[in-house]
Amino acid sequence: LSDRLSGVFDKLTKQGALSEDDVKTALREVRVALLEADVSLPVARDFVKAVQEKATGQAVTKSITPGQQVVKIVHDELQHILTGDEDPGALKIDNPPAPILMVGLQGSGKTTTTAKLAKRLKDREGKRVLMASLDTNRPAAMEQLAILGGQIGVDTLPIVPGETPVQIAKRAKTQASLGGYDVYMLDTAGRLHIDQELIAQAAEVRDVANPRETLLVVDGLTGQDAVNVAQEFDDKIGVSGVVLTRMDGDGRGGAALSMRAITGKPIRFVGLGEKLDAIETFEPDRIAGRILGMGDIVALVEKAQETIEAEQAEKMMKRFQKGRFNMNDLKMQLEQMMKMGGMEGMMGMLPGAAKMAKQMDQAGFDDSILKRQIALINSMTKKERANPDLLAASRKKRIAKGAGLEVSELNKLVKQHKQMAGMMKKMGKGGMLKQAMKGMM
Ligand code: GDP
Ligand code: MG
Repeated sequence: LSDRLSGVFDKLTKQGALSEDDVKTALREVRVALLEADVSLPVARDFVKAVQEKATGQAVTKSITPGQQVVKIVHDELQHILTGDEDPGALKIDNPPAPILMVGLQGSGKTTTTAKLAKRLKDREGKRVLMASLDTNRPAAMEQLAILGGQIGVDTLPIVPGETPVQIAKRAKTQASLGGYDVYMLDTAGRLHIDQELIAQAAEVRDVANPRETLLVVDGLTGQDAVNVAQEFDDKIGVSGVVLTRMDGDGRGGAALSMRAITGKPIRFVGLGEKLDAIETFEPDRIAGRILGMGDIVALVEKAQETIEAEQAEKMMKRFQKGRFNMNDLKMQLEQMMKMGGMEGMMGMLPGAAKMAKQMDQAGFDDSILKRQIALINSMTKKERANPDLLAASRKKRIAKGAGLEVSELNKLVKQHKQMAGMMKKMGKGGMLKQAMKGMM
């Protein structure tokens, strides 16, 4: 269910709130799970602490235990943290030839990932890609890229013995321009451990190529270490994203969370095998589930929430269909409208209501009216809200006065309520209400 109606449902589904103890107990297990998944200790600690503050006091869904509820909250929070602002799979490759710089430790999967991404750009986007190996320390590594290029039908820059990485980068740039390539990818050398010479070399290449993307390739099986590596590369070279390789293995991928939390860099792709099409765009939901390793609990809670939401929606709908759309319902709607960016947002979601929105707009309806209308409803007694037919002239006077508004304004509200109740009823008969409510979830 989207946020749109959740405020409404929250009230209806509350069976109790998570106590601090509930949360603490559940989070102890979560913490162990995170550490087992190779999330670095400080990251796991901070994460658990943040969730603890967030979760305490939250509602527990009916038929779900507090512990299960906490797991679901943790899962959603993990997913939230792992989600970047932009589409992870969209590489910035406008203005051809666009340089992409690949960095990382030796053996992390740089060369393989370079070929995988080149293939992807070629196959999916029809791009002409040129790959160049800058690994001058290891002739075999340069050969390796040329062989991979042959396998996927992507050109590689001819190898010229004796050149420095910077010279190769310059030649790649020239060749990419002259040859009409859309993208050129620079596969840099790696070391087994990070050292200053390696970093200095990569920085020099960066300055020459001015890459649109600098992708850090990290072995997803290395937990703690990966974070230090990422931090160092980002500080010294600046990376635009991370590719996690070997996610086809048994590792739970905790490095993803650590890296995201510490460097703030988005994970863009995951490598899922040695084959050259074994790469996918990063999916926060999947990795979150994997890191936590409690997928069945998350699914259970989601199912329970869905069931309750469906039940509540059904109940509300039945009442609306019978024309029982009272002032409490209207107030709830008005409050939702305020949250959702006003009248237009709301009406845009109800099929067949566009006309009504237009009418209201023409009648000078704006969002400050929402606030006044809510004030009017607040000024009604419980009975009046449940049964708007009670609103005789004397009552109206009292209500308007209580809200500090004119009776004419209350009259407008009453009229609007009638219209909406009528609309709900009509839509209910045609089955449109059901559709509309489904659309909101
Ligand atoms: P580089 O030194 O960083 O260039 O690493 P390579 O690209 O040469 O990869 C080192 C080894 O890891 C090779 O045997 C690759 O086939 C393997 N490899 C790379 N990516 C993946 C992956 O996502 N999954 C698996 N299982 N193996 C991978
Ligand atoms: Mg390599």
